[in-house]
Amino acid sequence: MSDKILRANSFDGSIRIFVADTTDLVQKAHEIHDTYPVVTAALGRSLTAAAMMGCMQKGQEDMISLQFKGDGPMGSLCAVSDSSSHVKGYITNPHVNLAPNNKNKLDVKRAVGEGTFFVVRDLGLKEPYVGQVPIISGEIAEDLTYYYATSEQTPTSVGLGVLVDTDGHVICSGGFILQLMPEATEETGSLLEKNIAALPSITQMMSDGLSTEDILLKITDGFSMLIQNEPTIPLYACNCSRERVEAALISIGKKELKSLLDEDGRAELTCPYCDQKYMFEKEDLEALIASL
Ligand code: ZN
Repeated sequence: MSDKILRANSFDGSIRIFVADTTDLVQKAHEIHDTYPVVTAALGRSLTAAAMMGCMQKGQEDMISLQFKGDGPMGSLCAVSDSSSHVKGYITNPHVNLAPNNKNKLDVKRAVGEGTFFVVRDLGLKEPYVGQVPIISGEIAEDLTYYYATSEQTPTSVGLGVLVDTDGHVICSGGFILQLMPEATEETGSLLEKNIAALPSITQMMSDGLSTEDILLKITDGFSMLIQNEPTIPLYACNCSRERVEAALISIGKKELKSLLDEDGRAELTCPYCDQKYMFEKEDLEALIASL
């Protein structure tokens, strides 16, 4: 396991940065959902961003989800993270095959299509906080940058990348989120801009053997950075359980449950995030109905 998220602040507090290696968790997402390469890239970039945004949250119970509702062949995409960077995700259609784009890269933009990008923050209040922007790119990182600029008024630079082998497995996956705090000077901004303009892609740097720390220092070259000692370890993890699925079944109502029992005699439910199957036999359904 090499997955980790490093975070650092500049000594003067004007810059904060998160750099993630998410290779193992994106490979796991690929295995669970049997994603084709372009979908692996879309889901992997989103999970990587969600993992970094997850550990930025202040409350331990806070949840964040990134949802792309586009008209592309992939359908909708959802990536969720808790504050420990335990992530999970799903896509409507994992089996999308598209020709590479004109840069000979996986055409994530076309797989996502046009539509709306939602950032949902569940802070344990009555209503979650929902931010939404139009999908301006579909390449995920640009959409997130746009979201931060318009919805949160925080100058942010986002880089995300997933490199997929010809056999479909994930060679490497990672990303960064760089933010300027209100006290940052214009000079700081333009220096960082210069660094980022000269930066190879995240997967190129990872393939070249650069560690997350190397990448962090490369992006913030020219600044004194204070790197937090303990990195966060992101994981693909689902918290579904038979009890939760039962609760979902109960919520459809007695009448619906009865007709489910009459028509099918049993119910099989599959968790959309981890593909775990939950089977409810005739007796289980009868017991649920009797309990209502
Ligand atoms: Zn699950």
